[in-house]
Order: sequence, then C-alpha cells, then structure tokens
Amino acid sequence: MRAADCIFCKLVAQEIPSKIVYQDDHLIAIEDINPVSPIHILLIPRKHIPSLNEAGLDDAALLGHLQLVAAQIAQDQGFAGNGYRLVSNCGKWGGQEVMHLHYHLLGGRKHQWPPG
Ligand code: AMP
Ligand code: ZN
Repeated sequence: MRAADCIFCKLVAQEIPSKIVYQDDHLIAIEDINPVSPIHILLIPRKHIPSLNEAGLDDAALLGHLQLVAAQIAQDQGFAGNGYRLVSNCGKWGGQEVMHLHYHLLGGRKHQWPPG
C-alpha cells in the first residue's frame, strides 16, 4: 500500500507534518508547501499509485472521489464560484516531481490557458 522513501506516503502517515485541510479513509488534502496560487491544496490518495499511468480500473472510484472532494473543498472554502483549476501532472513532460499520484487544487486567482 505504501512505498519506501516516498515523501507523500510519509505525509499520508503524518510522519512529516503538514497543514491538513481535509482527510478521510481514502485521501488527505494538505496545503502545498510551495504555493503557486493564493490557494494551493494537494489531494493525495492514501494508496501509493505512482502516477495516472499506473492507475487501473480498480482505481476509478478513488480517482472520482479525489475530484469530487476537490470540488467540495472549493465549495466549503468559498472559491468555487470564481472557479479554480484541478490538475494532475503526469511524468517527466507533465512536470511531475513526486511519484505518488496527486491532484493540485489551485484557486484565488485567474489561471491562464494554455499552461506553461
Ligand atoms: P508535482 O510536481 O505535481 O509532483 O507536485 C509536487 C508538489 O508537492 C509541489 O507543488 C511541491 O511544492 C509539493 N510538496 C513537496 N513536498 C511537500 C511537503 N512536505 N508538504 C507539502 N507540499 C509538498
Ligand atoms: Zn507514496
């Protein structure tokens, strides 16, 4: 379920401190340590999946849950109305640095398209 030397597995196990904004049996949502937007929350599944490339049909409900919780957090924190961005970087060209699947929930400013 967890991978040795994975920083996000350590965050999930609360072996590394973080600012938790939401958690349940399936995921933890924390403030990003290096925010790129006024609101920058990471949604991290408790299950270690390296990236979307390794996610399978067994993970469909989990991936849907991550997205729905992101939308709920945006509602609860009052920035859903203005809109937000939900993104999962995948692999080298996607800009993924931590190989434990996660979503970035970005809010509090207008985001450009296309991204860099
Ligand atoms: P990615 O490039 O998509 O893999 O994103 C990894 C994200 O994890 C970056 O936005 C980092 O700022 C963030 N991050 C790394 N270590 C921590 C930590 N200990 N607590 C909170 N966020 C972290
Ligand atoms: Zn992990």
